[in-house]
Amino acid sequence: MQTAISNRDFHFSPEPEPARLLVVDDDSSVRIGSRLALEHAGFRVTDAPDGYTALNCLQSQHFDAILLDACMPGLDGFATCRKMRERLGGDLIPIVIATGLDDDASIQTAFECGATDFAPKPLIWRIIVQRLHALIHARQATNHLNGRSSQMFSMLKTSSEAVLVLDQCGVIQGRHHIEKLPGAVTAMLEPGCNFFDILPGGCAVRVEKAWKNSLSADSVDEFILTLEAQETAFKLQGRFIAGIENEVLCLLQDQTEAFAAERKMYELAYLDQCTGIANEKRLISELSLRLKCTRDFGQKTVLIRCATPDFQGFEPRLGRHGLDKLACAVVSRLQECVKDFAARTSMLSERLLIARISGSHFGIVLSGECGQESVRTLAQLLSNSLAVCVEIDGFSCPMDWTIGIADSAQATSPDSLLSATAYAIQLTPGLNEPDRVRFYHPTLRDNSYRATELEQLLRRDIADGALEMNYQPKFALTDFSLVGMEALVRWNNREMGPVSPAQFIPVAEHTGQVVALSHLVIERVFDQMVQWREQGRLSVPVSINISGIHLNSETIVQELMAGVDQRQIPCHLVEIEVTESIMVQGAGRALKNLNELRSLGFRISVDDFGTGYSSLSYLLELPIDCLKVDRSFITNIADDPTARAIAKAIITVGHDVGLDVIAEGVETPEQLRCLRELQCDSVQGYLTGRPVVSDHFADFFGGYRCGSGYGLSTQ
Ligand code: C2E
Ligand code: MG
Ligand code: MG
Repeated sequence: MQTAISNRDFHFSPEPEPARLLVVDDDSSVRIGSRLALEHAGFRVTDAPDGYTALNCLQSQHFDAILLDACMPGLDGFATCRKMRERLGGDLIPIVIATGLDDDASIQTAFECGATDFAPKPLIWRIIVQRLHALIHARQATNHLNGRSSQMFSMLKTSSEAVLVLDQCGVIQGRHHIEKLPGAVTAMLEPGCNFFDILPGGCAVRVEKAWKNSLSADSVDEFILTLEAQETAFKLQGRFIAGIENEVLCLLQDQTEAFAAERKMYELAYLDQCTGIANEKRLISELSLRLKCTRDFGQKTVLIRCATPDFQGFEPRLGRHGLDKLACAVVSRLQECVKDFAARTSMLSERLLIARISGSHFGIVLSGECGQESVRTLAQLLSNSLAVCVEIDGFSCPMDWTIGIADSAQATSPDSLLSATAYAIQLTPGLNEPDRVRFYHPTLRDNSYRATELEQLLRRDIADGALEMNYQPKFALTDFSLVGMEALVRWNNREMGPVSPAQFIPVAEHTGQVVALSHLVIERVFDQMVQWREQGRLSVPVSINISGIHLNSETIVQELMAGVDQRQIPCHLVEIEVTESIMVQGAGRALKNLNELRSLGFRISVDDFGTGYSSLSYLLELPIDCLKVDRSFITNIADDPTARAIAKAIITVGHDVGLDVIAEGVETPEQLRCLRELQCDSVQGYLTGRPVVSDHFADFFGGYRCGSGYGLSTQ
């Protein structure tokens, strides 16, 4: 049988090759007549005078049909036909035997010898030509079909599909290549069973639809089938093909492993590997889906971000594995809260998605009818739960959580929703924000932009040295003489105008610029001191505010020493102002530096005293010379007995431990009088002198002129 299908079998060029004929007849006139008639009809003709010559021709040439005379001397037509068939094997080249013997026996012999057809002599060429054409076409079609079917056969054999033969009711009539399905599944697909009886409810509708389509619409729909067998869910992919004789073929392929691999890929792509909850990618796709529904159905989508600065800080103690446990512990708290909230509000838990945005940031998505109050309730539940210290392997992990909330009314894309919650959790430097749950508001974004702009401009201006110093005098309360001055930095920015230190110092601290700023300040102040010395001005201590960050650095002592050495400034004329909060937090190196500075002769004072966390008992442990009573106690000192009592206590205790006490922010003569009564040593404030540029400071060197004007005698 010929299996290969050549182009010649089914592709016809616009001008087809003439079909090749072999005409075999011992009668030369018949051969000549045949050649003339058949060539005229478009055939290419080869003729042979006897059976042996014909067999030789067949050996060397290819023919599309053979016309064979039955009666020939030697090898007659029937014997020649038989031999030809033997040589041709499976090739069904049409052989027509022409015979004058039109008895039934001759016809039967002709077919027994392998003839395709017979033609009575004398030959009628019109009929012969048509018959030859029909036979040649039939052979081509048969070859084509044979090729196709053998192709299908090998495809089926090599494909991984099993075939069920079903009758019109779905009853399994036969099975082929059933070994390609798992054993547990083949046991369910026994012949005689109805295929539809074994379908689980969930798949039935789709399979039945595919079945109907295959019967009526001549189309092939694929379906996926989940068959539970031996406690395993097998996934089969299938399709129906309408067969012959009212049969339907059901082709099934085992896709269990492919589905498992797909599931694994999904998990890798969309789930957080450590905690098993949705990851950022999944969160984003979920948000975009929900935001779309929000738009289409007028609902609301809310994102709650729970954030703590960093888990990594616990790594040295907990190790990587411990950090994973910490993340899982946090997630289980979030899950409990969400469950609790869903139960309280009867919200469907599918509406609540928990995701890990990044290391220590988690997001909770809600959608539907979620009013601000219910969102606040959930946020509060989360905040309360996260505030309880997590313990991992006996080690407690205190974390500061902030919760930022934004919704689809404020942000319409996953990105903007995420960044809105990022703004909401952002701490504005310098602002004390005790509230852990914060709703997004556009001003947060404006503040953040402003902080960023401020940061950039500050960086530029520090580098350009475009900041100046003001000096504010300090006067003794005994004789109103000048006892010192405080150097205060001023920033008058080209673009934004004057910016208060209360605003930009925290930004500088937050963005790591404060040390550079401090260098600038120290250089300016020391140069100014040299200038005043050269002008013969009275030498009094100048105090410089030093940030805790700088005080904690390794180099602060050398920097200050180098500055004073270079200019031969006595150390006791330089006072370092530090805030008490730094003293509490920065015990380590800050304290060591302070001790060193003091032992070198620098004066140390505690600024804004009374506002921080320290108690008076700290004073004994610190290397300090002076206390600056915070302005908040001075403001009401004249009329609030409590403020007065506190100021008095600070002054008394300060004196008891041998410290100078100065009051800052003195604005009125009454405050001045009170402080004098309480025996405060000195004052600084708008009343006695505002901070001014160095050129305007000259007047203060002569002492506080108005002092006696308030009825206060100099002692
Ligand atoms: P501070 O060290 O407590 O400085 C005193 C602040 O109170 C100054 O504000 C001063 O102008 C203001 N002040 C003085 N007398 C009065 C008064 O009678 N009434 C009122 N209402 N205010 C008065 P300023 O200059 O805005 O500085 C604010 C804070 O910025 C300073 O507080 C200090 O903590 C910081 N700072 C200022 N200059 C520097 C600096 O060069 N380096 C560092 N690290 N911080 C600085
Ligand atoms: Mg100060
Ligand atoms: Mg102060």
